Amino acid sequence: MTTEVILGRINELLQHILRELDGDMTAAAILRIKELLRQIVGELERAGLRRLSSTRTAGQDYLDLSDGRFVPASSEAMARLRETTAEETREDEECAVCLKSYEEGVEISAMPCSHEFHDGCIRRWLAISRLCPLCRFALQA
Ligand SMILES: [Zn+2]
Ligand SMILES: [Zn+2]
Repeated sequence: MTTEVILGRINELLQHILRELDGDMTAAAILRIKELLRQIVGELERAGLRRLSSTRTAGQDYLDLSDGRFVPASSEAMARLRETTAEETREDEECAVCLKSYEEGVEISAMPCSHEFHDGCIRRWLAISRLCPLCRFALQA
């Protein structure tokens, strides 16, 4: 790929991020922005800027967003989430992370504050922030 193509891709991804930042900063928006940033880093790495990721120890997420505002939940706290399976589709309720309803058979996890989310959604979120997306109840860091 030429430099122009890569810069064009990065510009496109940045435009997406700017649009997300204009909207409500929901948990879903932050996860989408994180994914867009990951794609930008991927483009830069393909362009040869490999040092971007080697400045941190292997396996560490260099887009962990842990700038003090976002503190991830501990794995112990995540292990204590109460997991259930939706016995029927719950059209009237939606997961505050992905804004989709609960389909029959899907894994649901409840925080200690008793707010429920898709298991995958809340785990992705808690890896970024230990605060409940709905009421900001704090899990142990
Ligand atoms: Zn969800
Ligand atoms: Zn809550």
